[in-house]
Amino acid sequence: MDGSPTKKKQRSPRIVGKYKGYKGDYCCVPGCSNSRGSCNRLGLKVAFYQIPSNPERRKLWLQRIRRGEVDEHGRIIPFIPKSHTRICSQHFIGGT
Ligand SMILES: [Zn+2]
Repeated sequence: MDGSPTKKKQRSPRIVGKYKGYKGDYCCVPGCSNSRGSCNRLGLKVAFYQIPSNPERRKLWLQRIRRGEVDEHGRIIPFIPKSHTRICSQHFIGGT
């Protein structure tokens, strides 16, 4: 090292390609590719729901989603929903 401070260029990250919106615009269910504005098989707009804050309901929802990852010991790492986590209406009985 020569001790001279390295000049860092301050560059703001560029969005490459089409801007897809923030995470909350996507369904968190594995294998589901619905996003805000998607239509279901009936041609109806898919609605998005937030995970309930009520612990009982929240638990139920998470069981239904069955989203989880397996670690190197074969244990399931539970899926922890974030504030932006959304589920689309296709995963609800009778949902559109
Ligand atoms: Zn979905």
